[in-house]
Amino acid sequence: MQSIARHCPQCKKYAEIELHEDTLLSCPHCAHPWGKVNKIEGVFDYCPACQSRQFYLSKDFNQFLGCVILLVGIVLVPLTYGLSLPVFALIDWWLARRIPTLINCYKCGSEFRGFKDLTKRFKPFLHHIGLKYDRYR
Ligand SMILES: [Zn+2]
Ligand SMILES: [Zn+2]
Repeated sequence: MQSIARHCPQCKKYAEIELHEDTLLSCPHCAHPWGKVNKIEGVFDYCPACQSRQFYLSKDFNQFLGCVILLVGIVLVPLTYGLSLPVFALIDWWLARRIPTLINCYKCGSEFRGFKDLTKRFKPFLHHIGLKYDRYR
């Protein structure tokens, strides 16, 4: 399944919509129009929601979870004589590998899921590009 997810500019709720060819995207909560998808492959030529042409990669998981795991590892250090650190680093690494990659739009922040083959086209978030789009958020 390929989908777009974002915070609706109208009702500010987070929503995810499945992507199909030739579909009008509209918010499932308030029906506010988000944009139009012509071809699935064309989604990353122009963002369907804001026409931006720049995207970045991120990991589809809660950063918080990673921190909690690391924190638990650190707390357990005195109990396990330091053994917990490599173990938790391993869990972290294992999690990072299993977590799918998201493609995000710089301008409107939309998240695109299910485009595994296309992730090679994009790079992780670059701060200087992000700054350019700050005023749109
Ligand atoms: Zn809405
Ligand atoms: Zn966008």
